[in-house]
Amino acid sequence: MPMTYKSPLRDLRFVYYELFDGDELARLPGFEDATQDTVEAVLEEMGKIASEVLQPLNGPGDEQGCRLENGAVRAPDGFRDAWKLLREGGWMGLTARPEYGGQGMPYSVGVAASELMIAANLSFSMYVFLTHGAYDALDHHASDELKEMFLPKLVDGSWAGTMCLTESQSGTDLGLVRTRAVDAGDGAWKLTGSKIFISAGDHDLAENIVHLVLARTPDAPPGIKGISMFLVPKLRPEGGRLVPNGVSCPSIEHKLGIKGSATCVIDFDGSTGYLVGEPHKGMRAMFTMMNAARLHVGVQGLALSEAGYQAATAFARERLQGRALTGARYPDQEADPILVHPDVRRMLLSIRAFNEGARALTAWIAMAIDHAESDPDPARREEADDLASLLTPIVKAFQTDLGFEMANVALQVHGGYGYVREYGIEQVVRDARITQIYEGTNGIQALDLVGRKMPAHTGRALRRFFHPVSEFLAAESGNEALAEFTGPLAKAVDRLQRSTLWLATESMKNPEQAGAAATDFLHLFGWTALAYLWARMAKVAQQKLADGGTGLSAEERAFYDAKLRTARFFVERLLPRTSGHFANLMSGSRTMMEFPDSAF
Ligand SMILES: Cc1cc2nc3c(=O)[nH]c(=O)nc-3n(C[C@H](O)[C@H](O)[C@H](O)COP(=O)(O)OP(=O)(O)OC[C@H]3O[C@@H](n4cnc5c(N)ncnc54)[C@H](O)[C@@H]3O)c2cc1C
Repeated sequence: MPMTYKSPLRDLRFVYYELFDGDELARLPGFEDATQDTVEAVLEEMGKIASEVLQPLNGPGDEQGCRLENGAVRAPDGFRDAWKLLREGGWMGLTARPEYGGQGMPYSVGVAASELMIAANLSFSMYVFLTHGAYDALDHHASDELKEMFLPKLVDGSWAGTMCLTESQSGTDLGLVRTRAVDAGDGAWKLTGSKIFISAGDHDLAENIVHLVLARTPDAPPGIKGISMFLVPKLRPEGGRLVPNGVSCPSIEHKLGIKGSATCVIDFDGSTGYLVGEPHKGMRAMFTMMNAARLHVGVQGLALSEAGYQAATAFARERLQGRALTGARYPDQEADPILVHPDVRRMLLSIRAFNEGARALTAWIAMAIDHAESDPDPARREEADDLASLLTPIVKAFQTDLGFEMANVALQVHGGYGYVREYGIEQVVRDARITQIYEGTNGIQALDLVGRKMPAHTGRALRRFFHPVSEFLAAESGNEALAEFTGPLAKAVDRLQRSTLWLATESMKNPEQAGAAATDFLHLFGWTALAYLWARMAKVAQQKLADGGTGLSAEERAFYDAKLRTARFFVERLLPRTSGHFANLMSGSRTMMEFPDSAF
């Protein structure tokens, strides 16, 4: 039973247009074309490409992997044609500005389209995603001259992009970067150094590759404050031609998953580069790329979990083993499908309740990013920016930790068939694992949350989350029908508030308290955010089903009914995890920090 993928378009419509007011997007200046009809047509079209073109390439791409031949990397067979198809359809510039040839769609629409592309083929999506990332960073920080020269090429997909941060001695700690940039005197720089683990670092999908490289100038202060960002093309445009620029790929990694995505060592040998933004402010520029990238990696967690859910439900319907505990459900068959067993249902509903909650959380933050960038009201811009920056590390780390967990649960539903290659689910598990590591490990996301995002502006960002949640709880306090959702939500919020207070006081006394609590705090926050969104989704479903859902088609009634049932499963079966995280984090750092180094 090979894997197939069907885009969750109905659920996306629910999230964008029933839970949230997606029509607001079309009221933002520049996004007038992003009406519901257009957005849904875009997603439907991407859904078709995902199911019919990208998903069939996923398994073969994993089998074949990338190849390094005569110093050039070849992506798996079929990736070039898929890239061409996306180029010709204008997909590379879906969210890029029209002045550079883009379609000018809101960021949140790009995020929804990405979910579909990733679920079908994470490896392929990496080439597209890095190109979008490079576009974003240049759009925000490069000079007009660089923009005019490079952006139209990235937008039409004739050139692709990368982000080159990591070196062998410099992973999490980017202050250790050694790649050097020397002023060439003509407005350009000469870069020398070696980067490792560079996704899409070299390949044959595009005619040129634009590397965004972190490097150190000779006068740079040591550490992170001395890092600058440079644009270094693989081939340098000169007199209407593209000439080699001292950029080479001596090797590629052999790895657990995303085998169709080339992970390259990239050497720069006196390569010509151009400064992006101000000298020594490279981290600021790179953060633009990294923040968007972090949210995007959170989408990867959700997307792979969705791929897992679809495979696991299809399998659970077909696989006949045992009988329902209350007696044969399908007596005319040799055995019942495993879907009848409570433990299998526990697994399937865990994945589903996470997926639908994470889809709502992702959309909430993606729409906030659109408002932060484009809302004419400065107060609304600030509010949206605070919320997005607070919740970005949560979307990245929570959604990828859970994405991996849920992909694994989906494999478990398959029993032994999950462990063998032909069913495809083992690839989903292997592919999902990297999402917890790159773009800043999940441990680092948790430290970012407690150390930077929470204290920012004396807790202003935190209030952007707590205020709407408290307002919702107050407004619904008399709503008996919703109490089964708001009651558990209020308890989770209370735990989150108490641990926030605990963290604020304890970390002043001893920073290791915050370090030890960070991951549990991030997960407590993630589950609480999902509980808020699930309560709101349950409210929407209840409203639609009021008076027995008269006027709704049977299919629509079933959709809202399932939404409500999934909400119930969420509060009863997943939300209690907040108690464990709360107890863990409140126990402090003592047991780990008093353990002698020599005893490990
Ligand atoms: C397949 C793949 C693709 C990648 N793509 C790219 C890319 O396109 N561009 C790019 O530049 N890089 C890329 N990377 C690199 C990736 O971002 C790094 O691997 C990652 O940031 C972690 O760095 P590291 O591997 O050196 O681990 P380390 O930094 O050595 O971390 C090891 C462990 O220590 C923990 N740790 C480290 N420092 C701290 C601290 N201060 N506090 C608490 N815990 C800490 C980490 O959480 C981790 O668990 C890629 C990596 C892989 C494997």
